[in-house]
Amino acid sequence: MRRVIIIGAGLAGSEAALQLAKNKIYVDLYEMRDKKTTGAHKTDKFAEFVCSNSLGSYDITNASGLLKHEMEKLGSVLMPVILESKVPAGCALAIDREYFSSKITSLIENNPYINVIREEVTTIEENTPTIIASGPLTSDNLAVEIKNFIGEDYLYFFDAIAPIIEKDSIDFSKAFYLNRYNKGNADYINCPMTKEEYEKFYSILINSPKIELKSFEKNAKFFESCLPIEVIASRGIDTLRFGPLKPIGLIDERTKQENYAVVQLRQDNKNATLYNLVGFQTNLKWGSQKELIHSIPGLENANIIRYGVMHRNTFINSPKTLKSSLQSRKNNNIFFAGQITGTEGYTESIASGLLCGINMSRYINNLELIELPSTTMLGALTHYISFEGHKNFQPINSNWGIIDSIELDKKIRKNKKLKNEMLANRALNTIDSFLNNL
Ligand SMILES: Cc1cc2nc3c(=O)[nH]c(=O)nc-3n(C[C@H](O)[C@H](O)[C@H](O)COP(=O)(O)OP(=O)(O)OC[C@H]3O[C@@H](n4cnc5c(N)ncnc54)[C@H](O)[C@@H]3O)c2cc1C
Repeated sequence: MRRVIIIGAGLAGSEAALQLAKNKIYVDLYEMRDKKTTGAHKTDKFAEFVCSNSLGSYDITNASGLLKHEMEKLGSVLMPVILESKVPAGCALAIDREYFSSKITSLIENNPYINVIREEVTTIEENTPTIIASGPLTSDNLAVEIKNFIGEDYLYFFDAIAPIIEKDSIDFSKAFYLNRYNKGNADYINCPMTKEEYEKFYSILINSPKIELKSFEKNAKFFESCLPIEVIASRGIDTLRFGPLKPIGLIDERTKQENYAVVQLRQDNKNATLYNLVGFQTNLKWGSQKELIHSIPGLENANIIRYGVMHRNTFINSPKTLKSSLQSRKNNNIFFAGQITGTEGYTESIASGLLCGINMSRYINNLELIELPSTTMLGALTHYISFEGHKNFQPINSNWGIIDSIELDKKIRKNKKLKNEMLANRALNTIDSFLNNL
């Protein structure tokens, strides 16, 4: 009987473990929490969402939405639980993180094929089939071991978390419920600002002390699509008004007035007692975060239950290390999955865990590994991260730029929605015929 080791019961590791179990392969799943923390995770549950509770779009004309539909076709175990954990969030697919991770933990702990070992892994057993899914916050000891295995220095960037507040502490004489452009139900809470209120907020933000980075972190790089608000603000007074605080399409029915800026809050748990500040990831000192949040109209007495924090976010040089099957180039027994490979984001991490789980099952059963074509979003992602020609490799979200283009007449090329729909249908058909030919 062959066993597979999985290091890390995060998003990718949990999906990979459940895939192997589905194929009746025994797994030793190592997770260091609750013995050792990552600094960002708050519980000892598996598949915890560390920051936002949103997985982006579920619409196939959106790149991340297409990836989710591909994952469903490929038999993801986490996707149905995500849909079951849904909370209202307009066009976005957002979940009750506590409900979701409790469900996944129970699925894993009660699975006869999965043996959970609550321990920090510090060595890689190169003779045992192993999936390394230890995430962007891989423990230091294991990071040294991985570095020795791949023979390369780590790459990294910085990522910050957004604060969460209690809904009962919001002043609804100022705040109002509405989705942007009045689409769907009114799921979001909006805190509108006048020009004067925004300028006061901006001045607190720009003058607030940040938590000092360690000396080796001084030249911190950030992931552009997840910048801390203080970094966005440092680029100019209006950048936030054109970014996370944009007021367009958010007019309070009571005043019918255009706002100068709007802070949006998204439901964070199923019973709607907690809300997170959308796009508000920050590394300000906690006292400053409190002052800043309390300067927002409607949030003057907000009870902050989680403050923003920043973390070093580690990834390997996948182009030199991995094949697009997520197997290492150096040793066929060793696979990598999740954010550590440079597939950036919750959905992408689960998707790579899914492919890795499928491929490890095939490896154990001496079957050819799957390398999805770049006409699919998952294939495009794994080909991107394993492309040896990268000069300056950086993590990547799902996006239409990496997927193989399609010959289209001029009229369709100009219609983005129609074009994406055609690319998406082609991708889903490719997955179907791929599965039929296995
Ligand atoms: C601070 C922060 C905020 C983020 N915010 C977002 C966001 O808002 N939206 C988004 O889409 N993505 C976000 N990401 C990126 C990414 O989607 C998440 O980090 C996601 O959880 C990655 O999934 P994963 O399975 O690769 O890693 P994780 O979910 O982190 O799982 C890795 C697991 O491995 C365990 N582990 C680590 N080392 C060891 C060891 N030596 N032995 C045993 N276990 C170990 C950890 O405890 C953890 O449970 C964020 C990342 C960070 C760091």
